[in-house]
Amino acid sequence: MHKSILLTIIISLNINANTLLEPTSLSKDLYLENILDGEYIEAIDKPEKFLGFEYATRVATPEQITSAIQAWSNQSDRLKVVEYARSHENRPLHAVFISSPNNLDSLDEIKNKVTQLSDARITNDRVAKTLIDELPAIAWMAYSIHGNETSGADAALGIIYHLIASKDTTVIDMLDEMVIIIDPVMNPDGRARFAKNLEQYRGTAPNYDDQSLIHTGDWPYGRTNHYYYDLNRDWVYLTQPETQGRVSLINEWKPQILVDAHEMGSQDTFMTGPAREPINKNVDYDLIKWGNVFAQDQGEAFDDRNWRFYTGEWHEDLYPGYSFYVAFKGTLGILYEQSRMAEDGVRRPEGTIQSYKESVHHQYVSTLINLKTLRENSKAMYKDYWDGRKLNISNDSKYANRSYVILPTKNNGRLNVLANKLKAQEIEIYKNNKPISVSNVLKQNGVIEDDYVIPTGSMIIPNKQPEAPLISAILEFDAEIDELVLQEEKQKSIKNGSSLMYDTTAFNFTMMYGLPAVTVPQNITRNLDVWSPFQETIEVNEDAVMWAVDGKDDRSVAFAARLMEQNIEVRIIDKDSSLSGHNLSRGSVVVIAMDNPVFKNLHQVVNSSALALDLSVVSIESGFGSEELPDWGGRHFRLLEKPQIAILSHEGFSSYDVGVSWWSLDHHLGIRHSQLNSSLTAYGDLRRYNTIILPSGNPDISDYAKSMLMDWVKQGGTLIANNASSRSIISSNIGNVKNLNKTFENSKTFNIDLMREIYSLEDQIDITNANDNKVNLQIDYPWESSDKTYTKDQLEMRDKWQSLLMPSGAFVATRNDNEHWLTFGTDNILPVLYSNYPILMTGGNSEAVLRIGELIPNSEISENRTINWSQIPAGYDMNVRMSGLVWPEASQRIANSAYLTRERIGKGQIILFSGEPNFRGSARGTNRLWLNAVVYGSGLGTSSRVTP
Ligand SMILES: [Zn+2]
Repeated sequence: MHKSILLTIIISLNINANTLLEPTSLSKDLYLENILDGEYIEAIDKPEKFLGFEYATRVATPEQITSAIQAWSNQSDRLKVVEYARSHENRPLHAVFISSPNNLDSLDEIKNKVTQLSDARITNDRVAKTLIDELPAIAWMAYSIHGNETSGADAALGIIYHLIASKDTTVIDMLDEMVIIIDPVMNPDGRARFAKNLEQYRGTAPNYDDQSLIHTGDWPYGRTNHYYYDLNRDWVYLTQPETQGRVSLINEWKPQILVDAHEMGSQDTFMTGPAREPINKNVDYDLIKWGNVFAQDQGEAFDDRNWRFYTGEWHEDLYPGYSFYVAFKGTLGILYEQSRMAEDGVRRPEGTIQSYKESVHHQYVSTLINLKTLRENSKAMYKDYWDGRKLNISNDSKYANRSYVILPTKNNGRLNVLANKLKAQEIEIYKNNKPISVSNVLKQNGVIEDDYVIPTGSMIIPNKQPEAPLISAILEFDAEIDELVLQEEKQKSIKNGSSLMYDTTAFNFTMMYGLPAVTVPQNITRNLDVWSPFQETIEVNEDAVMWAVDGKDDRSVAFAARLMEQNIEVRIIDKDSSLSGHNLSRGSVVVIAMDNPVFKNLHQVVNSSALALDLSVVSIESGFGSEELPDWGGRHFRLLEKPQIAILSHEGFSSYDVGVSWWSLDHHLGIRHSQLNSSLTAYGDLRRYNTIILPSGNPDISDYAKSMLMDWVKQGGTLIANNASSRSIISSNIGNVKNLNKTFENSKTFNIDLMREIYSLEDQIDITNANDNKVNLQIDYPWESSDKTYTKDQLEMRDKWQSLLMPSGAFVATRNDNEHWLTFGTDNILPVLYSNYPILMTGGNSEAVLRIGELIPNSEISENRTINWSQIPAGYDMNVRMSGLVWPEASQRIANSAYLTRERIGKGQIILFSGEPNFRGSARGTNRLWLNAVVYGSGLGTSSRVTP
């Protein structure tokens, strides 16, 4: 098949020759250096054989690289190829092990030695010394995780060839001492997408304009994978098959260095070397020391060739989900950032053109020089590694007296996922079989509790383990940032809105997953069993009147969605209930035989749906709920409606948010849906859908199209929007939700609405006053107990100042309406990831389903206190920040605003998320709210349709 493609290209070029003029110059003449300049074994095919063009003058497709690797594995005894994953589009991902034939024959033995060296509980200093003497150096060299940053993978192709085909004795000697693992194309789907763009936009003359389509490519661009995920943010969240396979193999091999070769802005030069602050405090300082050694050698190699480069600058390492997660495991991560040349080359302001081939050469030379540095320092690096691994489990480390505890929940589905992510990183997890009394426990809201009992069945992760630094990096509630860094960050924010932070400043797993957890300042070791996944029990009796799954478990939403797709009528119990001895959480999903008279094999469908999700089902023989609890004929058994879903997509939308919305439907639900070009809102038939999702973005949707969409809502549609799309809906004055800056004129009304919401939860009344016949002249009105109010001008000035200091990815606390169907499965306090999002204010009949700020009782506070437009009631403090950088000014600005709103419009509704609830496929807490909106919205939030 491969040959026939090449043949087609050649024929079409010949035809083109008759219709198109030859260019006056060729890009291949720009750079005359030979990258592959050694003496090579003739029996091994040169890269050109697989490319059909001169090596490194164009971008090789993933298929071309794969065919080269496969051919070479038959031609050389210096490499062994491992397929570690398949992409969503079914492309193979390869790790190419290159070493001497002897080493390749004993890979298992080498791997065992590395495993021994990594665990100081089974290895002593004497054995470690022998292991270090015997072990070859191990390098993992990985390229082009961002698919449109192409030069790395092309360099990898040349490197593999060079190492397996070179006749040079230094290469052959090097392979005796090293195992080099080349991961040439980390994101084949993204690269294929970009390679297709190159093919489509290629003309006759070379193009050096980095603004042209051949350089930029099309939406959704080649950076991301099939579902538009940034794979270089997925190394600890592990949501994508590319990362899952890769991390598993890297963790087996524990390489000494991991090179991650990228590209950056076209007009830039080349960056490498260790990061600048903020650097995650769980990184071993030895690695930073070694980073400088590698950078220095690499810099000298660049100097020798007159190539420009720099180190540090914008490169920080706080977020642990980059490839640099390996640093927490003792591996030196090395970043390359080559300026992006796409294809022919790029003209720079000084008039010169840097060619694509030269950019490949930079990556190539960097790789060889890093390998040389590793070879020279491998033994010393192993010694540092061993010392680090010993420290991780010693009583002297900062991890010695700390355990992370995730509290029990009926949300087995979510806990199982978390357990799998932790285990994939070789983290040991346990469950306590007895309550454990502990003291000075840190809760997620920052409160320290002196006496605390850990309930039986909690997930316990003692920090004192071989993977101690990684455990801390992903489970500690707050990543420490130096005061000086914070100072500079604040100055920059106020000066011009710039930031030192390259990614989110909060990322811990338990807040991300919306799972309550505590940190205990002691090493918990007693009354623990090794963690095992929950055993689900599926009991589907044919003669039951109904079958139910618990609504706390996230998988219950999929259960409902998948049954509805098969046209089965499904109900939800919107209140905690107890039926036939089974206690069911609010939001439990039930299938009632009487609702589905036409299904003769109903119980079998229920059974197989539960099996597919590995989800417990109970059979219920009676619809009677005792006392106040719901009974099956009452109003708490609410009928759902099958969601018919469309996601608006394309140019203007955030590809990340489109991708993760799409992935969420495919991953969590597996039901049919359509991704629509947003222009269809004007001329398509929207009646096919009852649920339309607007991912975050600023698409060019005409006023006419917007009015069509609103007509559709009024006729019963459920419109769900995220972040920038929510901003755009409220700025079009659709509905009653407003952006904060439009509310200062009548801020008091918003405060009264807020007070109604808070005081409606008040559970104490003065019975004497209530029964008094006289008019009471001493009534306390909540908004009058504080004399402080701000004028419109004051609020506006505050807002301008506060808006300079908004967070860029931090967790803030939200309290929720725990009677609302959107909050099924959600705890009362939910951490949400927050950035510079629209600040939603509800008024009229719009509902604030989640509001920012946790009310914490404090009996010493006797009066209401004012923050900007709103008040904190007497008797309470308010917590906003939970993790990451949230300036106090930002806390004030967003306190009491809504994160999630829902408003009835006509027969339909609009649901707005201030943020991006599916963030990186990992924000499980907010993802549940979104899944509730998507699957339950049409049934629970709109007028039900009756067919006459
Ligand atoms: Zn990149």
